Amino acid sequence: MTASNVDTSVNWKPATQLVHGGTDRSLHGETSEALYLTQGFVYDSAEAAEARFTGDEPGYIYSRYANPTVSMFEKRMCALEGAEAALATSSGMGAVSAALLCQLNAGDHIVAARALFGSCRWVVEKLAPQFGIESTLIDGTDLDAWKSAIQPNTKVLFLESPTNPTLELVDIAAVADLANEIGAKLVVDNVFATPLYQQPLQLGAHVVVYSATKHIDGQGRCLGGIVLSSEEWISEKLYDFFRHTGPSLSPFNAWVLLKGLETLPVRVALQTSNAARISDFLAESQHTKRVIYPGRSDHPQAELARRQMKAGSTLVAFELAGKSQAFAFENALKLIRISNNLGDAKSLITHPATTTHKNLSEEDRAILGISDGVVRLSVGLEDIDDLLLDIEQALAKL
Ligand SMILES: *Cc1c(COP(=O)(O)O)cnc(C)c1O
Repeated sequence: MTASNVDTSVNWKPATQLVHGGTDRSLHGETSEALYLTQGFVYDSAEAAEARFTGDEPGYIYSRYANPTVSMFEKRMCALEGAEAALATSSGMGAVSAALLCQLNAGDHIVAARALFGSCRWVVEKLAPQFGIESTLIDGTDLDAWKSAIQPNTKVLFLESPTNPTLELVDIAAVADLANEIGAKLVVDNVFATPLYQQPLQLGAHVVVYSATKHIDGQGRCLGGIVLSSEEWISEKLYDFFRHTGPSLSPFNAWVLLKGLETLPVRVALQTSNAARISDFLAESQHTKRVIYPGRSDHPQAELARRQMKAGSTLVAFELAGKSQAFAFENALKLIRISNNLGDAKSLITHPATTTHKNLSEEDRAILGISDGVVRLSVGLEDIDDLLLDIEQALAKL
């Protein structure tokens, strides 16, 4: 670090950390974060190379292990999350699979809330058993279900909150208490809430994971992910797994994500207020059977939402009469685009039953409340009047 970096001894607020946190200026004193597009590093002497490898001298060795641009992204995320350490990954799934597999052995057991992002569910339900790791999927909103799923070999609890696509909440603090009682680790996938509106580590979770592809980039450009936890857990559990299996984030994508973090609070605040307005509008419509938004007082877990989240969400889920109505609505939209992605500056709509959740059985979809009429809207940064106009004209065609 050079004197051109900001004073890190001050406890700067989150928005300030998102602009300056982790910045490590080179001797040129560049304003914007430097992009170190390099695979490796050179040493002044054979002795220096040896010292780097023994760890006697700090410094970079190879970009699969660490890279200066990626380190800036990790440090900025740590500052935001209040985490001691982090490792950035090439995608959200790189983060989830590494965070789970690095700490599980054959014979261990994982309990997960069944309302999981599709690939997360595949890792828990299909991949883990291939390595002799038992798994149980439960209704995450039911604390008794967590308790009764616990076995003597339970080592990891895993959840998302709010869930995709039905925006149910799981009581993170209560599940964290349970994990502590049995000496297990709680891993929370915090994509939907964003690091601004929910802080799992403060609520007692041991590990938090993100798909940075979503709000952190927020502009549809690149994939990325990150795992954050204590210094001890990252170095003892994750580091060797990460270093030798190679889910590393590219420096270029880390640079894009660093720029994304600078504007994260402004984007997420506007997307959330747009989503709140849209959820109120939809709740008044005769075409919607149900509107699910964690910021509304009619959300089934509104009290928990107030307790563990600082604001609603940038996503709204709602139910139309059936598949033909959902398709007709999507096809009638003139501004909002059909896409399975979320957290983007562009508003995006998806029909989970035929896209993101089509691999689940009809029975599993029914258990999760994903009927053929459910659509999920990821609200973007467009003018709220235009968004409401688009939704209104598309509903009028039903
Ligand atoms: C998108 C997403 C993931 C996977 O992230 P990728 O970057 O697409 O690999 C995991 N969990 C949740 C909740 C997500 O929304």
